[in-house]
Amino acid sequence: MEPSSRRTFLQQAAAGLGTLSLASAGLGAGELGGVKPLRVACVGGHPGDPEAGPGGTLALFAAAGHSVSNIYFNRGEAGVEGKTYDEAAGIRTAEAVAACKVLGARPVFVGQIDGSAVVDNAWVLKMEELLAGERPDIVFTHWPIDSHKDHQCASLLTIQVWMRAKVKFELYFFEVGSGVETMNFHPTDLVDITAVRELKRRAVECHVSQRPAEIYGPGIPGNQAIMEEYRGMQLGVKAAEAFVKMVGLRQGNTIAGLGD
Ligand SMILES: [Zn+2]
Repeated sequence: MEPSSRRTFLQQAAAGLGTLSLASAGLGAGELGGVKPLRVACVGGHPGDPEAGPGGTLALFAAAGHSVSNIYFNRGEAGVEGKTYDEAAGIRTAEAVAACKVLGARPVFVGQIDGSAVVDNAWVLKMEELLAGERPDIVFTHWPIDSHKDHQCASLLTIQVWMRAKVKFELYFFEVGSGVETMNFHPTDLVDITAVRELKRRAVECHVSQRPAEIYGPGIPGNQAIMEEYRGMQLGVKAAEAFVKMVGLRQGNTIAGLGD
C-alpha cells in the first residue's frame, strides 16, 4: 500500500472506531464559534491520573473554550515515601492544582483516601451529588479493569451514577499505563493530541513527587510516550489518546433499601 493511501486507510479505520463522536463534541474546532460550551469532567483516582490519561484531550477541550474539571478521587495520601498521609496529601494537592493550571482545568477533590477506596451505597450517592453539582455533558473516568483498586472504585462509582440516570452525561473510559494498570482495553475513540502533547507532558511533570521522568522513561512497562505514540499510530498521527465510549440503555438503577 502507498504511504498516502495507507494513511487514508488508517484515518478511515480510526473514524470507524468512533473518532468522530468526540471530535463532533467540540474538539478540533480551535474555538467555539457558536457551539454551546460544554461542561467536561474527568474522574481520576489519584493526582496525576487525569493528566496522564486524557490530559491532552482535556487540554483540547479547555483550549476550545469548554469548561473542564479534574475530579480527584483522593489526594494521593499513600503516595509519597517517608511522608505522613497529611504531608503527602498537601504535596500532591499542590501538584494537582499546578497541573490543572497548565491544562486549563478546575481541580475538585472527592475526599476518598489513597489505597483505601470504598464503593458502597453512601458513596454512590455522594458521587452522584458531586457530579450533579458539576452538571457535566461529558465525563471521563478510568476503564474499570485496572490493577489499582482506587482506579477501579473511581470507575465503578462513576458507572453507577451514569446508570442511575439522575445525572445525564456521555461517559468515556480512559487508559493509564496500559498493560500494567489498565487492562483489556480496546478503544472505540481516538483523539489526536499532537498539538498539545508537550503541554500534557508539562501537566504530568507537575507531579514531581511521582517521578515523572520515569513515567516517560524508556523501557518502562506502560510507558507514557509509547502509549501516546502507539495510539497515534492507530490514527495516523504522532500522538493520540484512546477511549472506550459507554453505550447502552440507562436503566435508572436504584439502590435497594434507600427508597429511591
Ligand atoms: Zn492512579
